[in-house]
Amino acid sequence: EHKSTQSETDVLIVGAGPSGLMAAYWMARYGVKARIIDKRDTKVFVGHADGLRARTLELFDSMGFQHRVLHEGSISTEANIWVPGPQGKLIRQAHIDIYKVDESPFYNTRLNQGRIERFILDSIREHSDLDVERSVVAESLEYDEKLSNDPDSYPITVKIRVLGEDIEAESEATDNEVNCGNLLSDDWADLAQREKPQKTQVETIKAKYLIGCDGAHSWTRKQLNISVEGSNTDHIWGVIDVIPLSDFPDIRRVSVVTNAAGTILVIPRERELVRFYVPVQTCEVGASDRFDRSTITPELIWARVQAILSPFTFDFKECSWWTVYQVGQRIASQSTKDNRIFLAGDAVHTHSPKMGLGMNMSMQDGFNVGWKVALAVAGTLKPEVLETYASERHPLAEMLLEFDRHWAPMFTDRKPEVVGTKASDMALIAGKFEDFADGWKVFYPPSSLVQKAEDNVEFAFARHMIPGERVLPVKIRNHADGGTAWTTGVLESDGRFRILVLAGDIRNPMQKQRIETLTQFLAGQSGSGISPLGRYLEIPGRFKSPIDVLTIHASPWKEVEFFDFPEILHPLDPVKGWAYDKIWCDDACMFDRYCDGTAYEKWGVDRVLGALVVVRPDQYIGWVGELGDVEELTRYLDGILVKKSTDEVGPSREYHIRK
Ligand code: FAD
Repeated sequence: EHKSTQSETDVLIVGAGPSGLMAAYWMARYGVKARIIDKRDTKVFVGHADGLRARTLELFDSMGFQHRVLHEGSISTEANIWVPGPQGKLIRQAHIDIYKVDESPFYNTRLNQGRIERFILDSIREHSDLDVERSVVAESLEYDEKLSNDPDSYPITVKIRVLGEDIEAESEATDNEVNCGNLLSDDWADLAQREKPQKTQVETIKAKYLIGCDGAHSWTRKQLNISVEGSNTDHIWGVIDVIPLSDFPDIRRVSVVTNAAGTILVIPRERELVRFYVPVQTCEVGASDRFDRSTITPELIWARVQAILSPFTFDFKECSWWTVYQVGQRIASQSTKDNRIFLAGDAVHTHSPKMGLGMNMSMQDGFNVGWKVALAVAGTLKPEVLETYASERHPLAEMLLEFDRHWAPMFTDRKPEVVGTKASDMALIAGKFEDFADGWKVFYPPSSLVQKAEDNVEFAFARHMIPGERVLPVKIRNHADGGTAWTTGVLESDGRFRILVLAGDIRNPMQKQRIETLTQFLAGQSGSGISPLGRYLEIPGRFKSPIDVLTIHASPWKEVEFFDFPEILHPLDPVKGWAYDKIWCDDACMFDRYCDGTAYEKWGVDRVLGALVVVRPDQYIGWVGELGDVEELTRYLDGILVKKSTDEVGPSREYHIRK
């Protein structure tokens, strides 16, 4: 007999793939009451998505684990195009650079989805007791629209089935984990621990918010009757992860190889693995139902790779994963229902995996929606800010599909004239979309969270700090110990908004005075008398203030002292002492050539006068002003954060708690 229970949670996340885990990261950081369920009985271990764009690594740096990816992953800095030469033999037609040294400290990196999931899971555990509930299937959804405007209500009712030993867990039909024998030890632990109830149980969960991160066939999307636009393409692809035995010279470099037999994509991976994307069959458009998966075997994929790489040799003894898929180019017509239920990741957009963007975009969706929902649940964020999830991410989903419509044919169109111009065609398309694909530009539009300059021109005092974009990563120097760090790591994704005080050169007495005036405002000793640090509701159990302050000055490191900066910029904690991690310096240092004292120039900020910048919890710029623009700053924050009632306004000294 099945046991049935009922419970309440603030946030329910359905699906623990890359997007669901990113959303769950924020639940952990903000300490909100949340659950995350997945019908799979384990995480992913091998195969699946593997490409990480540099922007995703920047976000991982702010989350504290990019070093684990760099330690295990494989980096690619160029792509090579191979086509038949004049004698018909394959020749390398072009190298295309796929890095930009001025944009990011990170590069395109490959590591399987399972390891990425591992790192996010570990981070979630480090910050909370939240854990993925596996072998749990969401089965029915009821949503009471009448309650949508009451943030404290539970308009969502989800029935879940907790699969017991009596039922075999669902596994992906396409997921062929051929060789799990070389799993890393921390993943083994994950595999071994799972315990299931004897008998399947049913539970009813009432939730304030639901985030559907449940993949391409999204259950949540179907429950809401949200339509999808687009269709399957007519090409069936095989993917195979093997340790190749081959004399193809670019086997450890990203390569596109085209000849009369077709086009393959060669992607070098971690631990000697190489992934091959291989066309295996063309079927009629719309004939997807008739496509018989069982006809495709690893042997068939292997033979196709051999044919296309010929006359180079290709063989393998070890295969860790393979799959067959038909590319669907689809986009959901909407990504939210009343800003109480959200869709993220593949639930919103699917496209060909050959751009290496699926996992990146999905994680960035989860990252965007997660902090907003968590901070709204905490009571600190105004619920109307939740509208910005759809306004910021949905246009990017459209852009993703647009990119794919241009990119995917590069792998299927085999007309001879296309072969001849392949490299230039690919470079043209890649160039057109690269800022978007790499994440250098996200194009977040104006909103309560993004205050653009009038007429969309840049702010003269911080020309390259563009609201709605990321902070261009630079290396800066910690004032107290002189050590260097990339801003991507210094700007930790701990859940707080961050006021960057770009203090300029405080050797200048006028400038020093401006900083004094600013800090009086931050301390609540000027104007309205209310400190922005004490003005808004706390993040319960985590931070007394949802706002952190970080100072980066441009005086020579040796010519000013830590204590030249007012106390509020490096507050004293009774246990941990002064906040040495709050004062940084843009000055060149001999031992680290990346720390060359050009941060202000790169950001377009005057070295004497500085600027004031607000960075959102997800590391995008929200607001830019001059050091004196405190009223505008307050207005911006008032539009986003919930104010304390006046009698609650506490002393600003007590403004942060570290876990
Ligand atoms: P997913 O990773 O699909 O995660 C969705 C999760 O939701 C799943 O774990 C699923 O079990 C769970 N779920 C669904 N419905 C329910 C329900 N009702 N109740 C509970 N849980 C539910 N991308 C590439 O770039 N390259 C590749 O080679 C590649 N291969 C892939 C192979 C497979 C088999 C799959 C499934 C995906 C592949 N992708 C690939 C796509 C890439 O993995 C996705 O873009 C990315 O994983 C999207 O992340 P997501 O979290 O949005 O969705």
